[in-house]
Amino acid sequence: TDIGSQKDRVMSEEEWLQKWEMGNIGFHKEQGHPLLQKYLDVLLNGRSGLRIFFPLCGKAVEMKWLADMGHSVVGVEISEQALKDFFAEHSLPYCEEPVPEISGAKKMQSTSGNISLYCCSIYDLSSSIVGKFDGVWDRGALVAVNPCDRQRYVSLMTTLMEKNASYLLVTVSYDPNKHKGPPFYVPESEIKSLFG
Ligand code: SAH
Repeated sequence: TDIGSQKDRVMSEEEWLQKWEMGNIGFHKEQGHPLLQKYLDVLLNGRSGLRIFFPLCGKAVEMKWLADMGHSVVGVEISEQALKDFFAEHSLPYCEEPVPEISGAKKMQSTSGNISLYCCSIYDLSSSIVGKFDGVWDRGALVAVNPCDRQRYVSLMTTLMEKNASYLLVTVSYDPNKHKGPPFYVPESEIKSLFG
C-alpha cells in the first residue's frame, strides 16, 4: 500500500502544544473509546492489578476507567495542559515532582497513587525510569507519531513491555492521499513489520 504523501510529514512538538492551546483536540473522546470496552478482556486476559501504559495519552478518559478497576496507569504526554485538564476534569487531586533522569520533565501523580502521568516526550522514557508494563492502550499514539519515527517508537514500546504483555492498537483506515493526517494511515503490512 502506498502511504506516499504522508511518508515525510512531520508534526513538531510545538504544533501539538498549539493544538492543545487552541482547543483543537478533535481526537479527544469525552465518552471514552468503545473499542477498549469491546477488547478489555483481551487486554486484561483474566489478570488483575496490572500496570498499564498509555503512550501519547492526551487526557484520555480510559485512564480513569482502568484506574477505577484497580489497575495502575502510567501515561506520557508533552502537553502539560492536557494532563492538568485530565486531573481537573475527573476532580482528582495530584502532586507534581521533577523526574531526575529527564531534564525539564515532570511527573504528575494522583494523590491516590494509581495514575502517574509524565509530562515529557515519550522518547525521553526508558524502562529504568517507568518500569515495564503488562498492558498497553495505543489509541492515537502510533498513528500520531511522525511516520519517520515509527520504528524508533515501536522499538521503545517493545522495551517497555513485560514478557506476557498485551498491546491493544487502534489504527484508522483511509486513503492517505486524501488527508494529510494526523492521524496517519499505517498499513497493516507496516504494522506487521514494525512489531514482528
Ligand atoms: N491518546 C490520546 C491522544 C491522541 S493525540 C487520545 O486517545 O485521546 C496525540 C497526543 O500525543 C497529543 O496529545 C500530543 O500532544 C501528544 N504527543 C505528540 N508527540 C508526543 C511525544 N513525542 N511524546 C509525548 N506525547 C506526544
